[in-house]
Amino acid sequence: MTRLEHRLRVLQQYVRDEAPALRAAAQELDGHPDGSTLYPQVPLLDRLATLQIPRRYAQDPLVIEGHEYFLTSAVERVVFHEEASAHGDAALLLSAPGSLTAGMLVAALGDDAQQRMFFDRVRARPTWTFLAMTEPQGGSDAANLRTTLTPCDDGFRLNGTKRFIGNAHRAPLGVVTARTGPGPLGIRCAIVDTSHPTCSAGPLATLGMRGALGTLDFRDVPVPEAHLLGRHLSPTRRGMWGWLHAFNPLRCVAAAMGVGIARAAHSYARQHLPQRHDALRRRLDTLGARIRGVQSLTRHAATAVDADPANAHLPAAAKTAAAGLAVEATSTALRLLGPAARLEHPLLDKWARDAFGIECMEGTSHVQAMTVFSALARTDTALR
Ligand SMILES: Cc1cc2nc3c(=O)[nH]c(=O)nc-3n(C[C@H](O)[C@H](O)[C@H](O)COP(=O)(O)OP(=O)(O)OC[C@H]3O[C@@H](n4cnc5c(N)ncnc54)[C@H](O)[C@@H]3O)c2cc1C
Repeated sequence: MTRLEHRLRVLQQYVRDEAPALRAAAQELDGHPDGSTLYPQVPLLDRLATLQIPRRYAQDPLVIEGHEYFLTSAVERVVFHEEASAHGDAALLLSAPGSLTAGMLVAALGDDAQQRMFFDRVRARPTWTFLAMTEPQGGSDAANLRTTLTPCDDGFRLNGTKRFIGNAHRAPLGVVTARTGPGPLGIRCAIVDTSHPTCSAGPLATLGMRGALGTLDFRDVPVPEAHLLGRHLSPTRRGMWGWLHAFNPLRCVAAAMGVGIARAAHSYARQHLPQRHDALRRRLDTLGARIRGVQSLTRHAATAVDADPANAHLPAAAKTAAAGLAVEATSTALRLLGPAARLEHPLLDKWARDAFGIECMEGTSHVQAMTVFSALARTDTALR
């Protein structure tokens, strides 16, 4: 699916027209990343805030030329996030209100009452949410988390610390992964309201994707039993192996952002390179071909995930390729524009820093490589 069908091209054009308004706000956020409530009045972000809600709970889809978009399929999300990163800014998208990551888990694991509670709140007004998995001792080994949910008379008490969490310092609610018992089946997800006084949050200083990440500390935070996701599911479907599936579409979105950053850097360099530099322009042509290849892989992965949400290897391959591409494209653009490029082209410098963030989002390339390798090993065994 290299060429998009008409309906998706209409969405792509809408985002392309609206996204340039993100750039000034993105540079403002990069310069003042601690502005914990900074929320630029950009129509595209306002619109995004109440999309990505399952049809059953959404009331206000995006309508363009008679086409309706809920932004709940991986393909629609990929088109939106790639275009908004290519013509706008990926870091600002990550810092925006809405329910991209937490909503995916609530949709995958929540029963009707839980989904209604969560999505009604997100739909009512632009609301930041978070998905808190990563802990200070490491994020790759998700099975080794230390945050606990301990049963008590009126539900559970949440204790632990989370780091590198998107919008942790802005969001009034989100989803937290925590241990209720031993083994992978004992890792559960809960909807957590951060208004309790023993829950504290703060911004995290980073080099790239500045302003997007924060930290969360929970000390005996009460969590009602009704907020524990997956209570209507079997232990295998609500435990770790159940919620890991929700990450497959998210990896496609991270890949789309990587492709978008690469496209932004590529077109920026093309615009700013002197016309006479044929050799340098040929290097940009080669980079352009690579971008189209990874874009095609990412769209293919999104289509595969929409057909089979358990497909993990294509999103993992796309995410790995896009993370490398974003770094390659931004560093190539900086090199081509000369030794002072980081100073003379602050937007490009920002994208070059942001590009490294794609590597860690939704799992590093080492972790993705293990997923791809497992799929290859399974295919190899099946063919023997
Ligand atoms: C922009 C951005 C947004 C993020 N948003 C969120 C969010 O919203 N919620 C959230 O919970 N987290 C979020 N994260 C955190 C992210 O998920 C983690 O950074 C990631 O999982 C890696 O964890 P870590 O940084 O602790 O590295 P570690 O897990 O400590 O890994 C360090 C290094 O060791 C390698 N490694 C680890 N295990 C293995 C292994 N078994 N084999 C080979 N190599 C290995 C890794 O590849 C990495 O290079 C975000 C990160 C970024 C950069």
